[in-house]
This record gives sequence, structure tokens and C-alpha cells, in this order.
Amino acid sequence: KEEVNIISGALDLRKKTVKDIMTKLKDCFMLPMNSVLDFETMSEIVKSGYSRIPVYDGNRGNIVTVLFIKDLAFVDPDDNTPLRTLCQYYQNPCNFVFEDVTLDVMLKHFKEGHKGHMAFVQRIEEGDGDPVYETVGLVTLEDVIEEMIQAEIVDE
Ligand code: ADP
Repeated sequence: KEEVNIISGALDLRKKTVKDIMTKLKDCFMLPMNSVLDFETMSEIVKSGYSRIPVYDGNRGNIVTVLFIKDLAFVDPDDNTPLRTLCQYYQNPCNFVFEDVTLDVMLKHFKEGHKGHMAFVQRIEEGDGDPVYETVGLVTLEDVIEEMIQAEIVDE
């Protein structure tokens, strides 16, 4: 029974897109680049429970890098380190995908693993002038696997 579910989930990966399964931008826990890593900010990060935090510059749609929780290992909250200093040191790259990318392609991409297991979902806004890319959400390997096994993975 469960195997049948997984097989049918795997076959359906071609029919669904990252937009169908992403975490919407408004629900993402992110930090502005001009944050200070004081006790309050670091507590909020820990409380969020996420292992990767997108960092934006200016507006929330302008994601420029990702902070990994492990990057905080040597940060002392008493030092009030600017987030920018840490981001410049680690320079973790971001992965962008278009919203119409199907889940089989996304899975392949994550498996190749060059930019980690999180990607930012973008939409092209066709206006009068040049097309502009708008970030609308994020998707992780866990989201794709949940689609495949057709069940929620309960985080520890
Ligand atoms: P984590 O390792 O942080 O638990 P996972 O890759 O296991 O992240 O993803 C778990 C779920 O949380 C997925 O649905 C993913 O889209 C979502 N998610 C991951 N990071 C964030 C974040 N910073 N803000 C909001 N949702 C997130």
C-alpha cells in the first residue's frame, strides 16, 4: 500500500510544479541584511527552528544570500556582530528556479547539489519594459520528498 503511494507520487512529480508546493514568501522566516546578531535576533532565529534563513536586502523579494544556523556557532551575541559581516564571510550562494519548474526536474537539481537543498521560486513579471523577476517563495528537498511519499515528514 505504502509502496504504491510512493510509486504514484514519483510518477506525479512530472505533473506538479515548485509553485504548487512552495512555502510562500509571506510565510518565510527571513532576516534583513542590516540585522544585528544580538541576543534578541539570535533568540528569534533559534526559536524559528529553521536551519536555513534567507537574507534579503531592502525588500523581502530581494533575497541575496542564506544564513545557515551552523554559521552562528562562533558568534557571541554580546559582540553585536552585523549580519552583513557574517554573510560576507560565508557568502552562501542562493539557488533560483522558475515557478513552472516541475518536481522531477527540481529533484534532479537538488540531487546534483551544487547550491544546497533550498531554492527560491521566481516569477517573471511581463510589463511594458524589461521583464522583472519576482521572488514568490522557497522550496526545499524536504518539500519534494513529501510530495513523492505523499506524507508529511515530522521534523524532530
Ligand atoms: P529545516 O531544515 O529548516 O527544518 P527543511 O528543508 O526540512 O528545513 O524544510 C521543512 C519545511 O520548512 C519545508 O516545508 C520548507 O519549505 C520550510 N522552510 C524551510 N526553511 C524555511 C524558512 N526559513 N522559513 C519558512 N519556511 C521554511
